[in-house]
Amino acid sequence: MAAKNLEEIVSLCKRKGFIFQSGEIYGGLQGVYDYGPLGVELKNNLKAAWWKSNVYERDDVYGLDAAILTQKKIFFYSGHENTFADLMVDCRKCKKRWRLDHLVEGKCENCGSKDLTDPRSFNMMFKTNIGPVADKDSYAYLRPETAQGIFTNFKNVMDSMAPKLPFGIAQIGKAFRNEITPRNFIFRVREFEQMEIEFFVKPGEDEKWQEYWVEQRLEWWKAQGLSPECLKLFKQPQEELAHYAKATSDILYQFPHGFEELEGIANRTDYDLGSHTQGQSDLKISANVAANKDSVAKLSVQDPPGQYFLPYVIEPSAGLDRGVLAVLTDAYTEEKLAGNKERIVLKIKPHLSPVKVAIIPLKRNESAIVEKAQAIKKSIQSLGLGRIAYEDTGNIGKSYRRHDEIGTPLCMTVDFDTVGKSDNTANHDTVTVRDRDSMQQTRVNISSLIDYIKEHF
Ligand code: ATP
Repeated sequence: MAAKNLEEIVSLCKRKGFIFQSGEIYGGLQGVYDYGPLGVELKNNLKAAWWKSNVYERDDVYGLDAAILTQKKIFFYSGHENTFADLMVDCRKCKKRWRLDHLVEGKCENCGSKDLTDPRSFNMMFKTNIGPVADKDSYAYLRPETAQGIFTNFKNVMDSMAPKLPFGIAQIGKAFRNEITPRNFIFRVREFEQMEIEFFVKPGEDEKWQEYWVEQRLEWWKAQGLSPECLKLFKQPQEELAHYAKATSDILYQFPHGFEELEGIANRTDYDLGSHTQGQSDLKISANVAANKDSVAKLSVQDPPGQYFLPYVIEPSAGLDRGVLAVLTDAYTEEKLAGNKERIVLKIKPHLSPVKVAIIPLKRNESAIVEKAQAIKKSIQSLGLGRIAYEDTGNIGKSYRRHDEIGTPLCMTVDFDTVGKSDNTANHDTVTVRDRDSMQQTRVNISSLIDYIKEHF
């Protein structure tokens, strides 16, 4: 598949109401984006597809929605306070600031100068104050990953759901990172969403389960419409691993700016449960309660009864915003048509399309047509597929073009034949259904419309 142009995708997103720069009327906030009427539908559809496949269709994964505001102690014990940092450098010539590992051959990306300051470590977590009095101890963090909410609720889920290993806890939610150089539209931003699973396994079975999840996740992205040739795996070299990881495989996608990480599948070992168990025993000591031997069993499991151990964890962690960008990139297509015409069409999978079906009355003032079109919209809406648009611009060609651009799989036109006001009796009680990808038009009887749609989705 040919590489796509990011500018064209950004332009489509703005023009058609997918994604806007946040606070644009005040000049915009760098690295922060808002999802518009169509973007929120696409994003919600992607989340729903992830939840369905990773929670509903499995018996060994439980859902969770933990808070964004996070106690500083959690990030002390998780290691983020000390290690969740990137190295940054400043260019002495043009004064631009860069993340060291993003520079090619140590050159400033803006002016090419190699006259850079020594690297300084920069912690990427956002701090905020809790309560009315801001003092040096009253701060908390906006979480930089959703994972810690899962580890700190591990015992709650164990106690309430009584799962047996292996099992997972899944969560979708916002994460915040004070990226030094946000870039490439919604690829690298300061506020984003993650779709994460922490899958707890017996030590010794971790490598097998990591392979399993890499395979699962790769197949899932393909099922969202990403072309297999635009996906590849990358095993992170030892020196690049995060502080908690024993091994990480990344799923890379060919974004307009090149192959980059879409999802990471990390083997976090027992690092996090171990650190928070340590946190629990430290608390006891500081509360002047003797640390008893059970305290180390706090976040552990027993198997067989009486034998405590800390499970290992495999973490498939996907970026939702990067997922949206990948889906849009793959789907964006410019097609040459007969007569030197062109069309832009978003060949997005029907389950992800922001609008599922557009109902188009041929005439917006003809009451029989309008009433029939509205009745059809209502009956299709009741299927619960998502948004069904009623499109009464009065210009069929324009409506088709608009819905091609936003990826609506089916358009249905209600005309004089539909309402029996024509001599063409064979077409009475039928609508014209136009398929987005083939542009083929078929007359479908109203009585079989619902079945037709169910089959298409
Ligand atoms: P990168 O190396 O690109 O900075 P990372 O390895 O730090 O990413 P993880 O900590 O593994 O990322 O986070 C899991 C997922 O969260 C990533 O695969 C990515 O999809 C998403 N993600 C991470 N940082 C950002 C960001 N700044 N903007 C958008 N998505 C992000």
